[in-house]
Amino acid sequence: MSTIAHNLQQVRDAIEKAALSCGRDPASVKLVAVSKTVPPERIRQAVEAGATDLGENYIQEAREKTEALKNTALTWHFIGHLQSNKAKYAVRLFELVHSVDDLNLAEELDRRARAMGKIQKVLVQVNVAGETTKSGVSPDDVLDLIRRMATLKNLAVCGLMTMPPYFNAPERVRPFFGQLRKLGAQIRKAGIPGVSMNELSMGMSGDFKTAIEEGATLVRIGTAIFGERT
Ligand SMILES: *Cc1c(COP(=O)(O)O)cnc(C)c1O
Repeated sequence: MSTIAHNLQQVRDAIEKAALSCGRDPASVKLVAVSKTVPPERIRQAVEAGATDLGENYIQEAREKTEALKNTALTWHFIGHLQSNKAKYAVRLFELVHSVDDLNLAEELDRRARAMGKIQKVLVQVNVAGETTKSGVSPDDVLDLIRRMATLKNLAVCGLMTMPPYFNAPERVRPFFGQLRKLGAQIRKAGIPGVSMNELSMGMSGDFKTAIEEGATLVRIGTAIFGERT
């Protein structure tokens, strides 16, 4: 078994264990294998070992890799910062864009999706800790942004995503994951037509077990599968 296949199996086992330990159905947590900087040959090893969902951060890189792997049935997720001038490619390549954090970008995605006859699924990225260096809408502004996005007919808002501060200590990240879950519940309660809040994209290699305990439905894991990025 390749190292990648072995790592993938370990990550899946850990996801299952974390879900069961808090009374969740393991099938309610989807693994997104984060393949940024990983070349197609190595991604293929993960795919052969059963990876179905891949996460990429950069449009140009994703264009090359989706081309190289086009004969493989895969679901691609965009998890990086998206500039609105790249929205066209994002709509073409990705099933789910995790990182929408402003109305201009949402409008551009909507426009491009309409031109392609597609309903683009998106998540809204929330900057839960208010870090100045991070992308994401502030928790205070998220409901308003989502109300506006709900009027865009070719976007489907499916949930929230966050990248909390990294303390190398999952317990310190827990409150931020909990905050994202509460925000999702508040927005769901608002009952905005066309907005579902079924997805919470949170948790990476160092903290995905905690994220699952706090309700993650999508975990984005790179290093634990592919090894350290160079
Ligand atoms: C790189 C990246 C990940 C994966 O991080 P690892 O620590 O390698 O698991 C997850 N989410 C986003 C947004 C990333 O940029």
